[in-house]
Amino acid sequence: MALRPILIAPDPVLKQVSLPVTAVTDETRRLMDDMLETMYAAPGIGLAAIQIGEAKRIIVIDVGKDKPGADESDDEDKKKEKDPDPMYFVNPEIVWASDEKVMCEEGCLSVPDLYEEVERPTRVRVRFVDYHGKQREIDCEGMLAVCIQHEMDHLEGVLFIDHLSRLKREMMLKKLQKARKRETV
Ligand SMILES: [Zn+2]
Repeated sequence: MALRPILIAPDPVLKQVSLPVTAVTDETRRLMDDMLETMYAAPGIGLAAIQIGEAKRIIVIDVGKDKPGADESDDEDKKKEKDPDPMYFVNPEIVWASDEKVMCEEGCLSVPDLYEEVERPTRVRVRFVDYHGKQREIDCEGMLAVCIQHEMDHLEGVLFIDHLSRLKREMMLKKLQKARKRETV
């Protein structure tokens, strides 16, 4: 596995539409392993291949799963602790979305340190090919639903800041530029 540099907005590569993967090969799995390692190191909970410059319809996500017995624990911190739960999505498609929507604060590894609320369907059903090349369908809600919709936007060259007003988006891009200038000085 290897860590890969994450592209930062407004890098034009992030605007590219990613191409479908024809078959899940060992090479695809190597890319997914690299993506997961890069995401964990960042740290983040989701990453699309285009964020490391690969225009392929591949996403990795880990929103964690509850530890066994966490419900019974009296310790509030323990309840919030999660076990790792890496998920891999190749060629994901949303086959159903709820009419009900939810506002959720989002961030992005390609838009570092900036957060803003975005409205999206509360629940979605996603069809995809998994790590082993098997076609699957899952229902997503909560954090996973938000995360997968955010990552699937990346496959179309869309960032979460593109869901905001032009004014807000330009303000955020300016902040990013300023942060980068500080880093290079
Ligand atoms: Zn993102």
